[in-house]
Amino acid sequence: MTERLRRIGVLGGTFDPVHNGHLVLAEAAWQEFALDRVWFIPAAQPPHKLGEPVTPFAHRAAMLELALADQPAFMVNRMEEQRPGPSYSVDTLRELRRQLDRDCALYFIIGSDAFVELATWKNFSDLFRYADFLVAERPDSAPGQLNELITRLPGGFQYEPAHNRWTHPHGACLYPLPVNAFLVSSTTIRCKVKTGEDISALVPPPVAAYIDRHQLYA
Ligand code: ATP
Repeated sequence: MTERLRRIGVLGGTFDPVHNGHLVLAEAAWQEFALDRVWFIPAAQPPHKLGEPVTPFAHRAAMLELALADQPAFMVNRMEEQRPGPSYSVDTLRELRRQLDRDCALYFIIGSDAFVELATWKNFSDLFRYADFLVAERPDSAPGQLNELITRLPGGFQYEPAHNRWTHPHGACLYPLPVNAFLVSSTTIRCKVKTGEDISALVPPPVAAYIDRHQLYA
């Protein structure tokens, strides 16, 4: 019998490579919002990195599989590999909405650095037709920045103090997600590997071993 999923979190990213900051973010969303699953969806062609070198999808997805192996609620979803062209989140969310039961809640998990750019994403306001948003302050962003950002977003979010959330006219809710700061980025890891520094505190051990074995970022 297939399990009925009611609450799914989606964490999209380049994951080049996945690191402990991604895991802390997913863990916070999973616990705080009682999610049944968190799907990590690696971008085949990250739209904001077109023209930049990105590690092949197979390596990024393999590192994700290793990182998530101990957490049964976390899974890699390779759906963006199937789609030609840039991997736009709006297309992914629309497709997921079509696949899932109507009563299954979909939460798009996002860090504040990516959220800042949201208004530049393809069909930005359609994103709020398909999923609610859980927005985490990234440890290196200024405190209180999130409220200001949301207020400035086009579309007219309304704050509901009783629920500590914002609602969009298209129906989606946006919730702040408290996360224990884990100051790391994939960029930092790529730089550290290049200069021969230790990354063992920043990624799960099998991911560090994979990077070493395949000589990634060297
Ligand atoms: P890069 O340094 O290559 O830009 P990144 O570390 O930002 O990569 P992505 O794969 O682009 O990683 O991030 C995917 C998602 O995870 C984004 O929503 C991003 O904001 C979030 N995220 C990444 N690192 C952290 C972190 N340390 N804390 C909270 N959120 C994070």
